[in-house]
Amino acid sequence: MCNICRQTPCPSMCPNADEPRAVYICSNCGETIREGEDYLSFMGEQVCMYCVEELTYEAEYIED
Ligand SMILES: [Zn+2]
Ligand SMILES: [Zn+2]
Repeated sequence: MCNICRQTPCPSMCPNADEPRAVYICSNCGETIREGEDYLSFMGEQVCMYCVEELTYEAEYIED
């Protein structure tokens, strides 16, 4: 049993938790996309959700 969080296996917020395996590298920021994480696959490229949010805009109708 882990002596920090007292759980087996460690939850992801525990510093002893195993890092999930890296599966892809984000084509936009170069960060690793790890097992179990959401990502966007587009035209053969993988983009992490952080970048997806950065690249997503809400359409707003602006009256003038
Ligand atoms: Zn732990
Ligand atoms: Zn990214």
